[in-house]
Amino acid sequence: MKKPTIKGVLAAVSSFLLFFLTVGFIVSCCMMLFMTILADTMDITFTSDNIAAAAKITFWNVILITFLFKFADYIRRKIMVERPTKIITAATEKIMSGDFSVRIPPMQGSGVEGFHQIAMAINKMAEELSGVETLRADFIANVSHEMKTPLAVMQNYGTLLQAPDLSEEKRIEYAKGVTDGSRRMADMMTNILKLNRLENQQIYPQASEFDLGEQLCECLLQYESVWEKANIEIETDIAEDVKVKADAELLGHVWNNLFSNAFKFTPSGGTVKVLLTATDHHAIVKVSDTGCGMTPEVGAHIFEKFYQGDTSHSVQGNGLGLALVKRVIDIMQGEIGVESTVGVGTTFTVKIRRS
Ligand code: ADP
Repeated sequence: MKKPTIKGVLAAVSSFLLFFLTVGFIVSCCMMLFMTILADTMDITFTSDNIAAAAKITFWNVILITFLFKFADYIRRKIMVERPTKIITAATEKIMSGDFSVRIPPMQGSGVEGFHQIAMAINKMAEELSGVETLRADFIANVSHEMKTPLAVMQNYGTLLQAPDLSEEKRIEYAKGVTDGSRRMADMMTNILKLNRLENQQIYPQASEFDLGEQLCECLLQYESVWEKANIEIETDIAEDVKVKADAELLGHVWNNLFSNAFKFTPSGGTVKVLLTATDHHAIVKVSDTGCGMTPEVGAHIFEKFYQGDTSHSVQGNGLGLALVKRVIDIMQGEIGVESTVGVGTTFTVKIRRS
């Protein structure tokens, strides 16, 4: 039990006095009214002894009523203020210590509606926090997992490189293995950092007006050696003079990711198409391929971080590309959709505002 403090005692005494004075005033007024009515209607004359006796009774009545009121108020406070406060404080302390599974039961009854609202808001907060915590834990697990593979590969090649009298051919092969592994890790780190900055809104779109068709062609041309080597046919239908006001660098990430996926998942002899159309307010870009396609189950997850539906190409990516694309499109308040059929191909459609 808590030790009473001087402040607490003073507060209790002053509250008791306030009750006492209020009740005393009301009861005295009632008594005086009652005695005046009696004197007028029944012609009773009160002696000073009568009045002194009535005053004494009134005083003790006032004390009794004050105690009764105080007691009723004490019970009301216990049930309607202290109990919910205790429950809410215990829940917030648990949340502070990292236990986000805590939920406060609904508080029923009149007079506790305010506490009920606070409790529901705390429940919602705990739910959100536990979601964030799961995401954070998943993210760390994914990053660690993704780093382990290239690190193991690099370690392997490093060990092989230490062997004496290695042929020139083998030395180049092992050194390439180390370089590829480190490039993969560097790519992943760059993507994680970009995604992190985008998620924390540290990158704000630097809008400038530019020709979207030109940008698409420039990005596509970067893959010339890829499509030539893989014997992939390119088809373009790009509307002329489609100006957009957007962050060109961020939008470049979108096209690069969509093109690199299209080439990655399209086998030799296939086709990749890029289409640009525009209305007065929007520009629509479609990137289609005749690649392996994906099932609806895979399609439902492709924008999640580290998700890789097709693991046969997992060495060439880390499942962050489309998460980044989605984030950029969200920041630009655009839309992205995907249509895909296994064995037939995939079409990504991006719709962005022109200004
Ligand atoms: P990654 O860099 O590993 O490819 P992405 O985020 O770019 O990661 O893509 C996630 C997944 O989406 C891929 O593993 C693949 O299953 C699917 N995907 C993306 N683009 C295509 C495509 N053009 N054709 C088929 N599947 C695709």
